[in-house]
Amino acid sequence: MDALMSPVLELSASQLARNVAAVRERITPSALMLAMKDDAYGHGIDWTLNALADDVELERFGSFDVDTGLRIRALRPRARVFAWTTSDDDEIRAAVDARLELGIGSAEYLRRVVAIARASGRSVAVHLKIDTGLHRNGIRPENWSEFVAEAASAQRAGAVRVVGAWSHLAEASDAEDDESAAGFRAAVDELHRQGIAPEDTHLTASAASWWRPELRGTVCRIGAFCYGIRSADGPQIPGVRPIAALRARVLDVGDRSVEVGIGALHGLPSTLVGASIGTPAGARQILAVGDMRSSVARWNGVSVGDVVSVFGPGDQGESDATALGEHIGTVGEEILTRLTPAVRRVAIR
Ligand SMILES: *Cc1c(COP(=O)(O)O)cnc(C)c1O
Repeated sequence: MDALMSPVLELSASQLARNVAAVRERITPSALMLAMKDDAYGHGIDWTLNALADDVELERFGSFDVDTGLRIRALRPRARVFAWTTSDDDEIRAAVDARLELGIGSAEYLRRVVAIARASGRSVAVHLKIDTGLHRNGIRPENWSEFVAEAASAQRAGAVRVVGAWSHLAEASDAEDDESAAGFRAAVDELHRQGIAPEDTHLTASAASWWRPELRGTVCRIGAFCYGIRSADGPQIPGVRPIAALRARVLDVGDRSVEVGIGALHGLPSTLVGASIGTPAGARQILAVGDMRSSVARWNGVSVGDVVSVFGPGDQGESDATALGEHIGTVGEEILTRLTPAVRRVAIR
């Protein structure tokens, strides 16, 4: 396909800055740690960090894996970067060299980090993770006290600095989150009893940081709302808009339908049939999703080359990525992260 006719993901730096400002204003005095997993939720780590450099400076980033953390470190030599997933020894060594902070969710992982810290002669900043009910990773409450004793001894030996205590909420119900928060507070108390006073406590991601101020710690790990992705079945967030718009072009005009240049091989889920997209005449239904093109209900006055918006801020009557996700029982993040490199990324203000 002609490059001009291939789909593009437009990325708005100014909207990213506005979202970050709205989130920061909401959560202050807690600090923002921008979550950048999945290539910054499909927006691209490089684009996101470059875009932020124009308008806002953030000091803290969350990377999930070490590779992502190293990329952030390359572009932000002085920022604090937190890599929270359990990594192998080569990754730990690279992380220690790059001064990444590591999330520690098991005694076994703590021991590996301590061994590598000792061998490198460095002290590694770590955030200890209590499992408050999600059962994904983290130290179970019944093992916490013993684990803290081990971390305290590693800290006294200079191998680690415990700079944080953290957990992750299920966000399934307020009652469940309250229970998790109580478990988290008890775990932090136990740290203090054993002589560890971490400067950071962090428990909440986008939704709980926004709606449950009493659950915020000193830091909030936030991805979705900064990228303008609202929660599935959640409301629009005041001051927060999508920063990405997926645009495609009309390739062919038929009697009843119009062919547009985006399809399953660009990462558009074929199950989106029946959802609507934005056109110059407003919202129109997707009738079929093919490999490289899809058909959409026709509108009056359409011509080849017209632009349609699969998702975006709504300027053509399109819905946001979350609404498309809701149509197929998933989250907006997945609509974005499924897009393939065949979708060109285009930076706009
Ligand atoms: C993804 C993630 C976040 C950010 O979640 P959002 O809902 O996108 O803000 C925070 N913490 C952890 C551990 C995560 O995996």
